[in-house]
Amino acid sequence: MKQYPGYTLVKQEDCPEQHGTLTVLTHDVSGASVLLVENDDNNKAFGIGFGTFPSDDTGVFHILEHSVLAGSEKYPVKSPFLQLLKSSMASFLNAMTFPDKTVYPFATPNETDFKNLMDVYLNAVFCPLAMVDKAVFEQEGWHRGEDGTVSGVVYNEMQGALASPDAQLQNALERAMFPDTAYGFVSGGDPASIPALTYEKYKRVYHRHYSADNCCITLYGNLNMGEALAFLDEAYLSKMPKGTSRPRLTMQDEQPGVQVKIPYYTEKPEADEVQCALAWYTGAFADRERQLGVEILLDALLGSNQAPLKAALLNEKLGADIDIGFDDSTLQPTLELVLRGATEDTAARFAAGVRKAVDDILAEGIPEDLLLASLNAAEFASLERPGSIPDGVLDAINAATGWLHTGDPAMLLHTNSLFASLREKLAEGWFDALLKDLFAAEPVQVTQVPTLPKKEEEAQAARVDGKLVLEHPLTVADLGSGEKSAAGGEEQLAGATLLHHPSAGSTYLNFYYDLGSLTPEEMQYLDLLTDVLDELDTPRHTARELNTLRGTWLGNSSVALSIWTGRQAGSPCHTKLTLSMSLLERSLEKAVELGGEWLYETRLTGPGAEAAYARVLSQQKLNMEQQFIQQGNSYAAVRAGAHFTVENALTERVSGVTAYHFLCELLEKADWAAVGAKFEALREKILHHAQLTVSFHGSEAGLDTLRKLLPGSAFAEAERGTACAYTEELTAPVNEAFIIDGGVNYDLLVWPMERCAARKVLARVMSYEYLWHHIREVGGAYGTGMLTRDGVEYLYTYRDPHLTESYDTFAKGPADLAARDYTEKDMNEFIVGTVAKLDTPRKPYAQAKELDRRYFCGITDGMAAADRAALCAVDADTLKAQAAALPRQMAKSVRVAFGSKDAVEAAKGLFDRVETL
Ligand SMILES: [Zn+2]
Repeated sequence: MKQYPGYTLVKQEDCPEQHGTLTVLTHDVSGASVLLVENDDNNKAFGIGFGTFPSDDTGVFHILEHSVLAGSEKYPVKSPFLQLLKSSMASFLNAMTFPDKTVYPFATPNETDFKNLMDVYLNAVFCPLAMVDKAVFEQEGWHRGEDGTVSGVVYNEMQGALASPDAQLQNALERAMFPDTAYGFVSGGDPASIPALTYEKYKRVYHRHYSADNCCITLYGNLNMGEALAFLDEAYLSKMPKGTSRPRLTMQDEQPGVQVKIPYYTEKPEADEVQCALAWYTGAFADRERQLGVEILLDALLGSNQAPLKAALLNEKLGADIDIGFDDSTLQPTLELVLRGATEDTAARFAAGVRKAVDDILAEGIPEDLLLASLNAAEFASLERPGSIPDGVLDAINAATGWLHTGDPAMLLHTNSLFASLREKLAEGWFDALLKDLFAAEPVQVTQVPTLPKKEEEAQAARVDGKLVLEHPLTVADLGSGEKSAAGGEEQLAGATLLHHPSAGSTYLNFYYDLGSLTPEEMQYLDLLTDVLDELDTPRHTARELNTLRGTWLGNSSVALSIWTGRQAGSPCHTKLTLSMSLLERSLEKAVELGGEWLYETRLTGPGAEAAYARVLSQQKLNMEQQFIQQGNSYAAVRAGAHFTVENALTERVSGVTAYHFLCELLEKADWAAVGAKFEALREKILHHAQLTVSFHGSEAGLDTLRKLLPGSAFAEAERGTACAYTEELTAPVNEAFIIDGGVNYDLLVWPMERCAARKVLARVMSYEYLWHHIREVGGAYGTGMLTRDGVEYLYTYRDPHLTESYDTFAKGPADLAARDYTEKDMNEFIVGTVAKLDTPRKPYAQAKELDRRYFCGITDGMAAADRAALCAVDADTLKAQAAALPRQMAKSVRVAFGSKDAVEAAKGLFDRVETL
């Protein structure tokens, strides 16, 4: 076993889940906890987490998170973090405030970058200038302007974050469950309380919590651990001797039976949009077997509309949908059920309804096959780790969590043995006992009722400046040459085109049906069909049985529309009905069988299907209404882009405001038999006649198996049509505003622009050199940027307190960029940052999807290399010329905003059309 000078070894163990070894160390002088995760992952990661649990709603730890990233002793500039975002090769760079901890993680595939970033992060958390410069506190936290109004980055951010009904419901629930401990406070900060925080208190809180003996450090991946540990020791930890005792979280006495009612202020209060949350405590954090059991149990009983507990509750018609929440990362984990689309009356019956449904299930016993499917699915997900956050960053967050509550950073990284023991207990009725126990106590209950408005106050102001000097600045020479895709094979089989990409580990099997010949209206129906497919029976299985089988035999399985703009001549729009499955190679036969049954045999007509349509569509409607408030920017972007490209027009049609109207219309008519007939005709047309491409990512042996399976499967056809591009007529540009609740705005300005790789540099400069300062730091919006995509470019703001002012800021951007001077060092930073984005390491499932997209869009390695070369060749003159030409291009732009009633009314002159959603 290796020894590391300055550290004491606590334990070392093999960890197949992490494909390597875990080593837990304690630093001798400082008492810091260190976890090493040694494996072959090139996406190296670092994380440092502190135990930070609030004792009020001032958001002090959130403000500290922002403040420490705003300049440190060794890197004394105002925004090193922003400059790293611009120029580093990091695949992940961020910091997060949780209810009980603050974690600073990053990941990068480049070793020099790793060393730079580790030093900047450590210097930030241990030597922040914020402790000697009150200006940082005022900018990031709060200050009073000359006119008496309060503003600050966190203050403004939280105004937006707390605006949605869900956020308010969540806060009220936490307050009711944890009235006496840290978990009852708004860890991000409540704007009403933030101004109560003084600079003195903020410094005291920092010194108490940001100490080496209150932190957990993770080093992850294929890197020289000895060197990194020696650096940590010499540069930081050995200078920070252990202090007095570290701060501790306290336990809350449980609060069964507590009931709270709160208003939600909205311009359009609807009697049937009441929400009701019920919550229960699920036992000790350290009992990982029980917590994993809860997760599996909830998935089995509530994971889909067919799952028994959810089906029973939906049957009671108390509301349109029920969501589950379960957070097992806190000291006292809790589970919650949220009833949406209820009335005050039905909300009052929710708790009794749950009680009865649970008793009914217990009387019969939970079906074992359901539990097994959920257990398999959870195990698959723990291995595959879906989502885009790098594995090393997830490990760093999990390490901080395990360390915080139990002292053991490795605790959450081991899961194999838990799955094995739960598998054994499954047959013994252990889950029935768990269910009984979980719901035995009275729940905590919060009911939220839509109510006519109150006014929100406005905000503004802050500023920045200065250049970050790194020890080893990255240059274009540090960039790799870009990945080459492994050669794939292509053959014709059973009426389909079969693609093969070699891959190790999990197997991915994707089916793509070409939709080029569909009409716009057919596309709308087809998108809905993909949403209801989970809910339908087949002649052989009920929907619930089929879900259970999929969970048992497959990893992920989904059906969706894919919409891409190709690189072929004329920039055609490719669209496919996509069935994607991930699996273990030995389950290939089952996958082909289940995928075929799911897609080809589900019953699209009859009472069962019709009930499913009514149920799913009303859930979708509620869901979209929440999404408009939370991500208005993405809806606004496709709405505006729809005037310029077919890809955007179709995306808007199947998932934008147009889709929402279509949904409302169908719900109004409620002619579900007609919908079923449409679905039936569409399915026949697509599944039996459209061109089909089957893409297999797996071994040669797997490919051989598939070659034998396909001809006898549901997917085989003697003859199919050919693929073609999808088209629809584009509509004339309209400037539109949509009024939403929530008190924040999303402002979009979109214009048509031929795709050009080199403009990614311009977009980056616009985002970080201009918009970040004017829209975020001065304007107080949570996010902003410029993006350049196939056929369109746009400027956006996210959770913005302003509307008219942001459009003014947009208009002044080009002149500002054109008037600047760019040094060679500046250009180097912009280019490294932009190119590194192209190289962000992908997880295997995402890589498989990306290879398929490149195939359909005709993107060759040669093109990717040419894009890269064009990016690297951008110089100051190109950049200035592009900026100078922007006003001409922006003259064709369309404005679409999602915003509050007040802001939209004040900006009426900017829009041709206003609609309240
Ligand atoms: Zn923040």
